[in-house]
Amino acid sequence: MATYRDQGIVLKSKAYRDHDALVNLFLLNHGKVAAIGRGVRKPKSPLNAGLYPLSYSGFELYRGRSSLESVTSADVIHGFGKIRGDIDRIAWASLIADVASECFSDHDPAPEAFYILVAGMEALNDGRHPPSAAMAALWQLLRAAGFAARFDHCPQCHVPLSGPLLWHPGEGQVICPRCARGAHLKTFSTGALKTVNRWLDMPADKFGAVEVRGRLVGEMVDWLSVTLASQLHRTPRAFAFISQLLDQEVEGPS
Ligand SMILES: [Zn+2]
Repeated sequence: MATYRDQGIVLKSKAYRDHDALVNLFLLNHGKVAAIGRGVRKPKSPLNAGLYPLSYSGFELYRGRSSLESVTSADVIHGFGKIRGDIDRIAWASLIADVASECFSDHDPAPEAFYILVAGMEALNDGRHPPSAAMAALWQLLRAAGFAARFDHCPQCHVPLSGPLLWHPGEGQVICPRCARGAHLKTFSTGALKTVNRWLDMPADKFGAVEVRGRLVGEMVDWLSVTLASQLHRTPRAFAFISQLLDQEVEGPS
């Protein structure tokens, strides 16, 4: 039984009993942790702001006999207020949190992923183009989890990749047209390939600096969605919402 301090992002929060919440935290030194925030849903709880979903806070946690840790204090380091005020940014930030939650195991420290997560939230909060900033963070999170690498060569015949590329859902790989052998595969443009590679190469504080616009947004969202579905074996809920928002953008206000 011990008390410890760490900093982290609140990935999720779910109401529990009358006034409590079950939270999922991504901590710098302790990895992902499930914890209970006792009394957090009382209006004047001192844990309230620090345990708000997507907040970046400094925590004190108590690990007892139960499998759940207890949050004993939570002080906001960054509340990402501009994300909260914008539905587009909330959707992308929720997707980043969801993917971080799915790709990493509990109590397995992943500091690289932690910094990507924070940088992704900061980029969204800074007003950078949400799909471009968030997808760069998402690809780097997938790489930190071992689910993605730079797309340079066909993994089957090793020729350098150039468009159009084909996605092999069963293998979870991008392969060259020659290796596709007429199978029913998804196609991606050279522009999409270059963009993913640039997102994977960029420093985290530049998330959003390589922007996609127009039709490329749809293509990139599609590619990310295929990748997530093949690696996580499910499509995160935030994705359906993002697709809806993007459709509205294309159609414009009626
Ligand atoms: Zn090939």
